[in-house]
Amino acid sequence: MAYDFDLYVIGAGSGGVRAARFSAGFGAKVAVAESRYLGGTCVNVGCVPKKLLVYGAHFAEDFEQASGFGWTLDEAQFDWPTLIANKDREINRLNGIYRNLLVNSGVTLHEGHAKIVDPHTVEINGERHTAKNILIATGGWPQIPDVPGHEHAISSNQAFFLKELPKRVLVVGGGYIAVEFAGIFHGLGAQTTLLYRGELFLRGFDGSVRKHLQEELTKRGMDLQFNADIERIDKQADGSLKVTLKDGRQLEADCVFYATGRRPMLDNLGLENTAVKLDKKGFVDVDELYQTAEPSILALGDVIGRVQLTPVALAEGMAIARRLFKPEQYRPVDYKMIPTAVFSLPNIGTVGQTEEEAREAGHEVQVYESRFRPMKLTLTECQERTLMKLVVDAKTDKVLGCHMVGPDAGEIVQGLAIALKAGATKRHFDETIGVHPTAAEEFVTMRTPVAG
Ligand code: FAD
Ligand code: NDP
Repeated sequence: MAYDFDLYVIGAGSGGVRAARFSAGFGAKVAVAESRYLGGTCVNVGCVPKKLLVYGAHFAEDFEQASGFGWTLDEAQFDWPTLIANKDREINRLNGIYRNLLVNSGVTLHEGHAKIVDPHTVEINGERHTAKNILIATGGWPQIPDVPGHEHAISSNQAFFLKELPKRVLVVGGGYIAVEFAGIFHGLGAQTTLLYRGELFLRGFDGSVRKHLQEELTKRGMDLQFNADIERIDKQADGSLKVTLKDGRQLEADCVFYATGRRPMLDNLGLENTAVKLDKKGFVDVDELYQTAEPSILALGDVIGRVQLTPVALAEGMAIARRLFKPEQYRPVDYKMIPTAVFSLPNIGTVGQTEEEAREAGHEVQVYESRFRPMKLTLTECQERTLMKLVVDAKTDKVLGCHMVGPDAGEIVQGLAIALKAGATKRHFDETIGVHPTAAEEFVTMRTPVAG
């Protein structure tokens, strides 16, 4: 049977655009449907605007520290609407770039909500299009628990478009988004509380990293409330929010921001018209080739819930394009050693195993740790400390993990990720000459393992 397209991609986010562009580049006839915004979550309500706000928040420290270097500044003023308007302008520019990328690579763009009506047919804007393969690249959506009054709370989707900076913000959650946005609000001058249900936030990250960030945020005056959860939220006559915790305490806030994870975006997608199955957590179930239970339908990115990061969605998109249309170049995505950064203030950068994971996996572990005051702060009052940590297999000398909390941690860890991927040993680190004076050189000068 002749189809209208070789590949019909639903969702023009990180993974969908990558798969569509490269498939078209390999000679396939490709369409992509997008219901909201070109570039998806990352470009519109994720990585990019988030990083711009983090940059914005960082200026508070820069101004504070400048006096140590002889600068005198008038009292710094911050204007949230200006930051948001400038951010919106930049995102609009990127939307245009994504449109051009797709169109120039020969992809047909359909703007609207796409629904799968049978394993080879997609309906959009009242029209039906057939395709040999359909790729579900619909991403995720913030998930807010069903507590009474949750309708008064916002998620990251709204946070990027607030008309003004709230005076008092309560951020709920202890993952990437909670920690990053708490840093943004706090840095920009809001009175910020971070509320997390467990003992210590950032579950899954290295224990030293979690503890170090807790100490640094506390030093900066952020209110951290652990072992705490919300019972209900009530709107008061003056528009502010009264938050009742499960332990009976009450807090007041002007904004309650839930960052409690993301669900797969499958709304009105028509999966009931296919044999596609979901996994236990509700994400689209795929095999190692991103194939769903319906032979003509594939899925990638946040909607499959493996690793919810843009570079992972990009790699999956590339792998799918190659497998379908350039099989001789196909290489599976390697999910080991994925570096990641949390753009908290200060940043976290991490790659490889945590100390806890390495011990659990049965390695005889040697740990190298360094805590120091960054050189830039020596002329200032700021008491911030940087943490660097290496987790090494004592038997093989292989470096199993690198972890950092401090300025530019994400930038530094990217290079280390290449070394770890190449199988670097501690000896390789020791024999590498440092770049002086940098913070990063500390990673090649740690000589004595910490006790334990
Ligand atoms: P998405 O980028 O979400 O794209 C899915 C697209 O599908 C969307 O545009 C959506 O509108 C569209 N769509 C959905 N349903 C339909 C339909 N039925 N018809 C048509 N179109 C549809 N990752 C990082 O690596 N680094 C970061 O710093 C980072 N920061 C983040 C900050 C925040 C606040 C958030 C929320 C996420 C962040 N992420 C970050 C994660 C990253 O954004 C995602 O992992 C990535 O965008 C996933 O790409 P995707 O292609 O799977 O889906
Ligand atoms: P995460 O899964 O990272 O964190 C969710 C947090 O919410 C956890 O602390 C979790 O607690 C808590 N939580 C979950 N359910 C509830 C509940 N019902 N009540 C109270 N707390 C709850 O999700 P995020 O929303 O922060 O981010 C989604 C994903 O997006 C991330 O996992 C990451 O992959 C990606 N992302 C990446 C970024 C980056 O690369 N810098 C930045 C932002 C997002 P517990 O740990 O106890 O389960």
